[in-house]
Amino acid sequence: MDGPGDRYHAQAPVDLAAIARNVAILRQRMNGSQVMAVVKADGYGHGITQAGRAAVDGGADWLGVVHVAEATRLREAGVTVPVLCLMALAEGAHADAIAAGVDLTAGTVSLVRQIAAAASRAGRPARLQLKADTGLTRGGATRAEWPAVVDAALAAQADGQVRVTGLWSHFACADDPGHPSVAAQLARFGEAADYAEKAGLTPEVRHIANTAGALTFPPSRLDLVRLGGAIYGLSTLPGGAPGWLRPAMTLTARLAQVKRVPPGTGVSYGHRYVTTAETTLGLVPLGYADGVPRGAAGRPLVQARGRRWPIAGTVCMDQFVVDFGDEPVSAGEEVVLFGPGDDGEPTAQEWGEALGTISYEIVTGIGGRVPRTYARAQARGPEGDVDA
Ligand SMILES: *Cc1c(COP(=O)(O)O)cnc(C)c1O
Repeated sequence: MDGPGDRYHAQAPVDLAAIARNVAILRQRMNGSQVMAVVKADGYGHGITQAGRAAVDGGADWLGVVHVAEATRLREAGVTVPVLCLMALAEGAHADAIAAGVDLTAGTVSLVRQIAAAASRAGRPARLQLKADTGLTRGGATRAEWPAVVDAALAAQADGQVRVTGLWSHFACADDPGHPSVAAQLARFGEAADYAEKAGLTPEVRHIANTAGALTFPPSRLDLVRLGGAIYGLSTLPGGAPGWLRPAMTLTARLAQVKRVPPGTGVSYGHRYVTTAETTLGLVPLGYADGVPRGAAGRPLVQARGRRWPIAGTVCMDQFVVDFGDEPVSAGEEVVLFGPGDDGEPTAQEWGEALGTISYEIVTGIGGRVPRTYARAQARGPEGDVDA
C-alpha cells in the first residue's frame, strides 16, 4: 500500500464520510427532532475536531462534549453550532464556556449560582441547561431537589446572568429495550419539564434520548436526541448498531516480524500458548497500552489475507503474536484488527462482545500512539455512495 500509511506501524483510519452520512441518515429518521452529535472523549477516539466537523457536515444541529476544554477546542476549530457540556463540573472553566458561547449544565443550586457569578464577572449571560435525575442516579437534580434548582435558575435569569436554553435527563437502561425504567424516566422527565415551564422557564430544547433510546423508543426523541455511538456506526444495543449505520473506525497494523517455529514452542509471556505443529508466527506491534486488551488472548480477532487468525498467547504492553499456521505471511504485511466488517474482518462490536464489554470501550481505548488517519474515502453502504 502506498501513501502516508507507510510511515505507521499501526494506524486507525477514520472514515469521516461515514460519520457525515450516519448523521444525515439519523437526522432523516428522527422525525424532525434535532440531532446533537456527541463528540466527547476525543470523538469516541475518532478525533474530536474531525468528528465534530464531519457531524456538522452531515447536518448535526448541536455538538455535545463533557469538558469545557473539549468545547473550546471545537470553537477554535471553527465550529459555530451550539455546543453543550454534558457534565455538571464545578471547575474554574465556566468563564471560558461563557466566552465561547457554550452551554453549561447544572443540576444543583450551588452550580447554578457559580455559573451565574461567573457570568456576572464576564458581563455576559451564560447559556445554561438544567439536568434532572429521573432515575439514572448519576448527575442531575433529584425530584426533591428540582424545584430549588429551577428557582435558582429563574432568579439568575431574572438578573440577566443566565439564559436557560434547555432541560434534560439521561436514561439508565435504554440499551435494554422495553425495560420499564425507560418509559418511567421519560414520564418523570415530562413532569420535571412541565414544572420548570409552569414556573416560567422557556427552554429551546428538552432532551433525554441517547443512541439506544432514540433508536428503540421514538417517544423519547422529544426536541433533540443526543447521539454518540450512532454517529460512529456503533451502539450499546444487543447486536450493535443497525446495518444502515456504518462503523467509522478501522484499526490496522503491519507485522513487525515473522518467524517459523517448531511444534512445542511456548509463545509470549507465561508461555500460555504452545504451538502444536510447525507454524508461522507474526508479531503485531500493538499491545494493551494501545488499547488491545489482555483478555483478547486466544481469540481469532485478527484478519489477514481474507481470513481470521488467533492471537497466540499473552497480549503484551506494545505487541502480541498471531499464529498464521502455514500461511506465508511476511514482515510489513498489513493485518486488520477491526473495521466496518465489509470483508469479514472483526468489528469493534465483535471485539466488545468477545471481551465482555461494549464497542465504545474498544474504540475510546485505542491509545494516542496509534495515529488516526483521515483519507476521506468514499463511504460504501446500503443506501448508495456519498462523497464527503
Ligand atoms: C455519552 C452521552 C450520550 C451519548 O450516548 P450514546 O449511547 O453514545 O449515544 C448522551 N448523553 C449523555 C449525557 C452522555 O453522557
